[in-house]
Amino acid sequence: MRQRNVVIVGAGLVGALWARLLAQQGHRVTVLERRSDLRRTAIPGGRSINLAVSDRGWRALRLARLDEQVRPFALPMEGRMIHEPSGSTRFQPYGKPGQAIYSFHRRRLNELLLTAVEEYPNARILFEHRCVDVELETPAVLVETPTGERQRLEAEVVFGVDGAYSAVRLRMQHLEGFNYCQEYLDYGYKELTIPPRSDGAWALFPRALHIWPRHSFMLIALPNPDGSFTCTLFFPLEGELSFAALRTEEDVRHFFRSEFPDTVPLMPKLTEEFFVNPTGSLLTIRCFPWSYDGKVLLLGDAAHAIVPFYGQGMNAGFEDCVVLLEFLRQYDPDWSTAFRAFERFRKPSADAIAQLALENFVEMRDGVLHPRFQLRKKLEQYLADRYPDRFVPLYTMVTFTHMPYAEALRRGRLQERILEILLERTESESDWQAPSFQQMMEKLVEELPPCDPALLAGAVPERILEHPFGTGSG
Ligand SMILES: Cc1cc2nc3c(=O)[nH]c(=O)nc-3n(C[C@H](O)[C@H](O)[C@H](O)COP(=O)(O)OP(=O)(O)OC[C@H]3O[C@@H](n4cnc5c(N)ncnc54)[C@H](O)[C@@H]3O)c2cc1C
Repeated sequence: MRQRNVVIVGAGLVGALWARLLAQQGHRVTVLERRSDLRRTAIPGGRSINLAVSDRGWRALRLARLDEQVRPFALPMEGRMIHEPSGSTRFQPYGKPGQAIYSFHRRRLNELLLTAVEEYPNARILFEHRCVDVELETPAVLVETPTGERQRLEAEVVFGVDGAYSAVRLRMQHLEGFNYCQEYLDYGYKELTIPPRSDGAWALFPRALHIWPRHSFMLIALPNPDGSFTCTLFFPLEGELSFAALRTEEDVRHFFRSEFPDTVPLMPKLTEEFFVNPTGSLLTIRCFPWSYDGKVLLLGDAAHAIVPFYGQGMNAGFEDCVVLLEFLRQYDPDWSTAFRAFERFRKPSADAIAQLALENFVEMRDGVLHPRFQLRKKLEQYLADRYPDRFVPLYTMVTFTHMPYAEALRRGRLQERILEILLERTESESDWQAPSFQQMMEKLVEELPPCDPALLAGAVPERILEHPFGTGSG
């Protein structure tokens, strides 16, 4: 690849990973980050304390030669532990034995990535440097330095990886033909802590993502390496049962005692944290195009912020980097074509995971409580075991493969139809052995196209590389 002088705005998870990957390729990389250096300050690391990394994220970390380095900090979660309103629990594996998603401390991962960028002498990170504007034509970034002075930084290419409230995207929003849409959920979230037990052990089973579904809201908990759990309450912002309605410590205690009684003895600082910790907002951002004339490109949340219910926001941003690198290799030195091919290929997948994340909120807080949900999951697994080349559960496609999200959504919809038809003919599992059921099942599954192993492994289809503008959305 021809070596270039690039500026990356944002040293969050995706910006730092992208900087590392470009530095690895020998490009001269300057990263501008508005916050101070996480490694030297005590400021909070971002909007969630921990997050789940799945196979797409791991692939990107492997490409950056960091997977071995980060592995010791990752805690495997092999399934969901559902805490029913009755107090009983049930464990649902996410996939096959050995498949797991991994809980990571967001800040530690970010710190590690920053250090990984600085391993390269051709890369530098300028902290407390806020991008205030971008000249798209040049391209150049107008930066405010720690002393409040403004500087203009020219580059061959500017990458806007500055998150959901991106300053780079804001400049692009002024362009004619730039589509932009942001949608807030009328839910917010709040983080709370379950500390380790007095002997240092986890207070709940650590190899699971815990969920307390309560139809219109839910609490979840992810394990941390220090023996604690970070819990997140996803709750309406307004209304009878809402953040707005919980005004006093007694309101909070009463609410938790009635909805999540098993958690109350585990959260000694519940009321304190509830009023000190901020209430976060949840939004989806869709925009297009992501690039300007081969000079500017948006990546990560700046291009496609999603709600967190599939645990894929960062994973999708990491996957952006893997896919983009593939397109750059293919089209180098013509980055303009590479950017256009990339955004056309990637946009349908960004839209698909945005949609799936919204739908998964309903499944997590409500769907899992329905009596037929377990039967549905069992039938899904039965079909997956029986027809491994054709029927792959949607969660598996999203989490444990590299199939483009758009393809996963398309196949998921077809599979959903099959499940519905078969469930209509199911009272209990024993019905699946009936010859008429088996015949119908065979016929329905045969209509599914076989899964392309190359797609499952994340290959960019040849037809897209050959005809980059013949597919995708605009
Ligand atoms: C509650 C919650 C839970 C989540 N859980 C998961 C999960 O389990 N798994 C998962 O994959 N994803 C998860 N996500 C999504 C994930 O956090 C984001 O997708 C990810 O952080 C996006 O990374 P990014 O680098 O694109 O943006 P950010 O992390 O937002 O980083 C942007 C960076 O740009 C900097 N910046 C912003 N503006 C400027 C400027 N003007 N000048 C210079 N620098 C600037 C910021 O300081 C920041 O460092 C979760 C999100 C939330 C809200």
